[in-house]
Amino acid sequence: MQKAQELYAGKAKTVYATDDADKLILFFRNDTSAFDGEKVEQLERKGMVNNYFNAFIMQKLEAAGVPTHFEAVLNDQESVVKRLDMIPIECVVRNIAAGSIVRRLGVQNGMELNPPTFEFFLKNDALHDPMINDYHIQSFNWATKEEVERMKELTFKVNDVLKKLFLDAGMLLVDYKLEFGRYKDGLRLGDEFSPDGCRLWDAQTRKKLDKDRFRQGLGGVVEAYEEVAHRLGVPLPG
Ligand code: C5P
Repeated sequence: MQKAQELYAGKAKTVYATDDADKLILFFRNDTSAFDGEKVEQLERKGMVNNYFNAFIMQKLEAAGVPTHFEAVLNDQESVVKRLDMIPIECVVRNIAAGSIVRRLGVQNGMELNPPTFEFFLKNDALHDPMINDYHIQSFNWATKEEVERMKELTFKVNDVLKKLFLDAGMLLVDYKLEFGRYKDGLRLGDEFSPDGCRLWDAQTRKKLDKDRFRQGLGGVVEAYEEVAHRLGVPLPG
């Protein structure tokens, strides 16, 4: 398979076409961004760690019955994925209150959410990714009613699989963001799953092991990601 032209450069990944119309190459850059791209830094090794981390998680999810776009790791910073028609929506599940929900609803940071809660956001940096609901998605034709239900179903299934996976490795999966796209056989999980797009706390100390370290200037960002990878048994070179 040959890498072809660059199709899209996001905040942390660049997407390339290939000579196979059904496949793309994701390049995981070292760029790390927060606050809708206002804060950006290059963090050595981050692209590599996230590439291997994402591959590990996507394979766990696929094995548990969640269809994903993941195909194979190509090299340290690149993976091959199926080409999806992406839905411009972010699906967030929260097991513990943190981040924007604390600001929006004035609830206690660290409060356990039982049942876990679900939120949709529109992927739009210029509008600061506003929260939307099921009706908006259908009225503006971003996805069908069936797709909305399927996104919820798969996002909660991911929670069942990953909450346990992280807890077994001594971590709390606080919240996470997923994106889905359409493929020939239905919706599949796209984008990535890495500590850039979820919150992970040490189960004992509640030490932050995710991108909040970058957002809050706590330092040790990639070191924390590597610790998460190490605890899960994700093989990392070097
Ligand atoms: O900021 P907020 O608390 O709404 O984020 C919820 C979860 O979704 C966090 O884990 C965050 O890292 C992730 N997220 C993301 N990309 C966004 C917005 C949120 O990965 N654009």
